Amino acid sequence: MTTDFVVIATDTDAGKTTFSLLWLAAFLDRYEYWKPVETGQSDTETISRMVPAAEVLPPLARFTDPVSPPLAAAREGRRCPTVAEVMAAKPSPIHDGRRLLIETFGSPFSPLNDKELQIELVRKLRLPTVLVVSSTVGAVGRALQALESLGKHAVLPVAVVLVGKSDIYAATEIKKHRDDVEVFSLVPPASWSEEAVRDSAADQRETLTAIESRLGKLVAELVAEDRQVVWHPYGSLRPAIDPLPVVGASGEFIHLADGRRVIDAVSSWWTTLHGHRHPPLMAALREAASRIDHVLFADVTHVEAVKLARRLLRTAPWEGGRVFFSDNGSTAVEVALKMAYQFWCHAHAPHRKLFVGFDGAYHGDTFGAMAVGRDRLFTGTFEPLLFEAARVPLDPNQLDDFLERRGSEVAAVILEPLVQGAGGMLMHSPDTLRAIYEVAKRRGVLFIADEVMTGNRTGRRWAYQHAGIAPDLICAGKTLTGGVLPLAATIAGPGVVAAFDTDDRTKTLFHGHSFTAHPIACAVAAVNEKLVSDQTVHDRATAIGRFLVDRLALLKKRFGVVNIRVQGSIVAVELDAAGGYLASTGDAIKKHAIGRGVLLRPLGNVVYAMPPLCTSDDSLTRIANTIASAIGATAQ
Ligand SMILES: *Cc1c(COP(=O)(O)O)cnc(C)c1O
Repeated sequence: MTTDFVVIATDTDAGKTTFSLLWLAAFLDRYEYWKPVETGQSDTETISRMVPAAEVLPPLARFTDPVSPPLAAAREGRRCPTVAEVMAAKPSPIHDGRRLLIETFGSPFSPLNDKELQIELVRKLRLPTVLVVSSTVGAVGRALQALESLGKHAVLPVAVVLVGKSDIYAATEIKKHRDDVEVFSLVPPASWSEEAVRDSAADQRETLTAIESRLGKLVAELVAEDRQVVWHPYGSLRPAIDPLPVVGASGEFIHLADGRRVIDAVSSWWTTLHGHRHPPLMAALREAASRIDHVLFADVTHVEAVKLARRLLRTAPWEGGRVFFSDNGSTAVEVALKMAYQFWCHAHAPHRKLFVGFDGAYHGDTFGAMAVGRDRLFTGTFEPLLFEAARVPLDPNQLDDFLERRGSEVAAVILEPLVQGAGGMLMHSPDTLRAIYEVAKRRGVLFIADEVMTGNRTGRRWAYQHAGIAPDLICAGKTLTGGVLPLAATIAGPGVVAAFDTDDRTKTLFHGHSFTAHPIACAVAAVNEKLVSDQTVHDRATAIGRFLVDRLALLKKRFGVVNIRVQGSIVAVELDAAGGYLASTGDAIKKHAIGRGVLLRPLGNVVYAMPPLCTSDDSLTRIANTIASAIGATAQ
């Protein structure tokens, strides 16, 4: 497998550029060259001259004097880029499917600018690293010394390459002391001409290929090991597609171990709100973590939880509510179901034990959540174990008919307001939502709004707000912490609260989790709640949806597209595929999209996007184009 990688050396003139020349000459169609910062004679130009067919990307900064970059920059009255600037400028290869050879200057411990050493950049890149060492006298010492000091910065080169006259003694000696690295030897071309470089690369192709397979080895091993020891959610133990090896995330991007950045068009399973590692949320996390980890929440309180509860209640449609914390959406639903049933028990109506869910519903994967979200494929196996719950079409009249017949047995109606997510981004209007709510109220049953997915996605803090209704219970999860940490909440309205507000200990809600109200998660969520109290955040969600829908309009009535729908930042394209969720087009679409740098996870015959709010217009355009080309390609 090909991967981006970084070439470092013990020192200037150790042979980095020789290595790069041979590499590019050998693997012209697989790698492109980038040297972010250069001084003096331009290696970028040398590469272009010696390997004219190589794709050479322009440096971010180039200084004339052949001295340390900060010094050279100062002489020109300029400034050197920071690590962050180099990271942000890291280009994508011009040709799809190729990777970058990133060449550093001097030694890893050379100053990159007035404040940072180049090693900081090498560390941040988190890519396989090749250490080039000149094979002249002293090679063993230089190599071991470099490995030692790199280790202190958590950089372990995957290969040491001795460049110069072949020296088997040095190679053996280095290996003897460091059995964690592989040592290779490359001989420079006989002369500095295009032909000589090409010939030399051809002669040493075997060595270069061995180095290349070494580069991809760690990731290949990770994936192979994953296949032996990990069980992924909704995952076959024999998956058709390898898991993506992820090393980081920022903004709308997920960073892969091979240097690729893919756009997280599904907001990491609908959790990421503003973007990955959104600075105010990360700051809240760091600040909280510097004071506290987890403490129990029984007989204990902390400012994080109280502040968050206060902020959540400010968004609620009533006064006098309470917030019950848990740590995932399914549990937030379980808590709501328990509260609803116990509410009726306290009202001397324990026979009201029927919950009513809707076609297309999904409420989570725990037993109560499965029971109210029944779906043949996903929960069919467990059907014999699920408690009885009714499932009706998402239609106020049908609900009314049902409640007319069996309303006296019903505890609550549960619905995902406006968008039924996992069911395939099925959408209904605020009018329908209001009508359903009114039927529930008229028939005297509780109404649970499962906002685990819809919270912060529909152009308002809560989807139910579009309908101006006041649910009795609201379930929140996913974006509650902006997607940074697991946290969920069940917000109970005053009616439910009143039923439990008693000195009678038998009327306690006996429910809790080890990590209830995790302080760090609450601290992050409290800051997030402040951010989302600003309507412009939600306007951005609406703008994202409109932007995508505009660009997807070309798909209308083509390639078997049945319809395109939008609500807030959620856009869904439904295909006329008979196969349902197991339709194999799903895998084809995923593969196609990853090849174009976009992470999509179709829900059966529904291809959707729900990007983080920070997603740039460029990235949104790429998402739309990728959805269109994926659908076009798989339709053939
Ligand atoms: C994801 C989801 C859940 C379950 O949340 P988890 O955190 O995955 O347990 C419940 N309800 C809805 C509407 C969801 O989308």
